[in-house]
Amino acid sequence: MTIAQNPLLDFSDLPRFDLIQPDHVKPAIETLLTDGRALIERLTAESTPATWADFAGALSVGLEPFGRAWGVVGHLHSVNDVPAWREAYNEMLPEVSRFFSELGQNLKLFDKYRALKAGPEYETLSREQKKIVDNEIRDFRLSGAELPEEQKPRYQAIMEELSQLSAKFSENLLDATNAFAEIITDEAQLAGLPDYAKEAAREAAQKAGVDGWKFTLHAPSYGPVMQYADNRALRARLYRAYATRAAEFTDGSSKPEWDNTPIMNRILELRAEDAQMLGFNNFAEVSLQPKMADTPEQVQAFLRDMAAKAKPYAAKDIAELKAFARDELGLADFQPWDAAYVSEKLLQARYAFSEQEVKQYFTEPKVIAGLFKVIESLFTVKVKPDTAPVWDANVRFYRIETPAGELVGQFYMDLYARETKRGGAWMDEARARRRNGAGIQKPIAYLNCNFAPPVGGKPTTFTHDEVITLFHESGHGLHHLLTRGEELGVSGIHGVEWDAVELPSQFMENYCWEWEVLQDMTAHVDTGEPLPRALFDKMLAAKNFQSGMMAVRQIEFSLFDMQLHCDFDPKGPITVMDLVNTVRHEVAVLIPPEWHRFPNSFSHIFGGGYAAGYYSYKWAEVLSADAYAAFEEAGDPFDATVGKRFLDEILSMGGARPALESFRAFRGREPSVDALLRHSGMIAG
Ligand SMILES: [Zn+2]
Repeated sequence: MTIAQNPLLDFSDLPRFDLIQPDHVKPAIETLLTDGRALIERLTAESTPATWADFAGALSVGLEPFGRAWGVVGHLHSVNDVPAWREAYNEMLPEVSRFFSELGQNLKLFDKYRALKAGPEYETLSREQKKIVDNEIRDFRLSGAELPEEQKPRYQAIMEELSQLSAKFSENLLDATNAFAEIITDEAQLAGLPDYAKEAAREAAQKAGVDGWKFTLHAPSYGPVMQYADNRALRARLYRAYATRAAEFTDGSSKPEWDNTPIMNRILELRAEDAQMLGFNNFAEVSLQPKMADTPEQVQAFLRDMAAKAKPYAAKDIAELKAFARDELGLADFQPWDAAYVSEKLLQARYAFSEQEVKQYFTEPKVIAGLFKVIESLFTVKVKPDTAPVWDANVRFYRIETPAGELVGQFYMDLYARETKRGGAWMDEARARRRNGAGIQKPIAYLNCNFAPPVGGKPTTFTHDEVITLFHESGHGLHHLLTRGEELGVSGIHGVEWDAVELPSQFMENYCWEWEVLQDMTAHVDTGEPLPRALFDKMLAAKNFQSGMMAVRQIEFSLFDMQLHCDFDPKGPITVMDLVNTVRHEVAVLIPPEWHRFPNSFSHIFGGGYAAGYYSYKWAEVLSADAYAAFEEAGDPFDATVGKRFLDEILSMGGARPALESFRAFRGREPSVDALLRHSGMIAG
């Protein structure tokens, strides 16, 4: 098959979005998979020397065309999800998944990487090349590749049982959530609820063939009731039902067979056995292997440090909330089901401003120009319009150049929501930077958002949250585009530990809170006036509303998760609930009722991939705030010296060295929680 016959196989430069059609997918991907398998066969042959050029480098470069072509297909599936593209994608997805799982289980590859590591060439490899070899060996080890043959069946059985248990955990939770319904027939009972929530409840009732309004435990129904319903008894009933999902109670609508308690215990037992077979002390150590944090002790110390500093602020938040409930709302006996409701009332009374008013100032051309100016000032580059074939007429394409006019990278910007585009905002890569013979292949990125398109000839306007989203995704984009990586496996975001991936993205968000930047980045859609200072001050006050309470809540979940996977014994006398209660008494300020069964619905760690990893949310916030504080300490958010150091030591480094080392190289010390606390209005400064 030639490029003329199939533009998906054209890797000469930019993807041919003007020519690629859904019926190109199957023949192109099948060809590339066949080529990929033949390559692996050849590279794992005994006659192939275990060297970088003959094996590891050849493998990575050899599989790149497949990665790029499948990347284009996945991208089109996300941004142009018409039936023909969905079908083309789904038809090949099982084939592609099978190929990846073959790769992950191919012990001949593992043997070659080990031979390369043990051989005389390893010490002469570049830092990037060594890191790629080490990462590959680590990942094979963590999937049990090194176990003695007689232990492999048991290991396989553990993995299978764990994946079944995780699925069962989520199913039980979903069944318990779905089983509950609260039908209200008297509209007076719904006082306080916004119209949209009532309308949704009305529709749900009609769908169920009942009169009145139907409320459920799903977030879009449950959330507004807890936040707005004046009816305290209604809030209390929904709270109890929500808190006891998939637990031993049957007074709500949960059934005994949906109780997640035995599943949690079994999952913890199996994870401990997994860790022990792989030669670790506990599962938390296994989880941290591919992450930035070194040890469970280090993570716990970080969480406790943060808790100790945030707790006085959390205590102040809860005291303010209770006083407001008592004095303004007549609720003397504050209960957990009052928390969201009273918070909303307090926010309106003390910190309210109109999101709609703010939105009038963030006109699209100003925001985009402001973003580019931030990037240009920080990293001494130029962002210029460029041209490329695109998948939608509204997609824009830009190039980043050095001041001397040398190309650094290119990116697509697809800002507007469409019916055929998946929700949310995300950055993806079209091509990664690498050495290519004598030259360098330049990186290309996709930035995708879901903002409202312009109407009526006026530019579209963004909410402040949308502007933050745009900066966030640009941070991921810069991580990919400003890399100096020369090897695919650690270039840009490749090989970056997942608790460090959000550092550049959250770092960029800080610029959306800089007065100097905002003045330059806003122009009222009708008057052209920049954002007024008084409105900005209200936005800042609202940003830090209850930040202490929110911080200790995240720390409570993180510390519980970490302890559960360290020295907790599921067969011992202390139960999962005992442990969560101990953690709560250490860090929380809002203690739920004794019957609250939070662990039974903690899907992140029992149904998803966050076991001994929940801390990473806070961890990434700490890192990005602390990185930004280096600019604050220099007295200028665009300080050239600090900007260059951030680029040199963090952004451009990609996955070439451990993220903690990169952070230390940038900051000259270990990460500190103080900057985040200060940015959230805790700790004066
Ligand atoms: Zn992100």
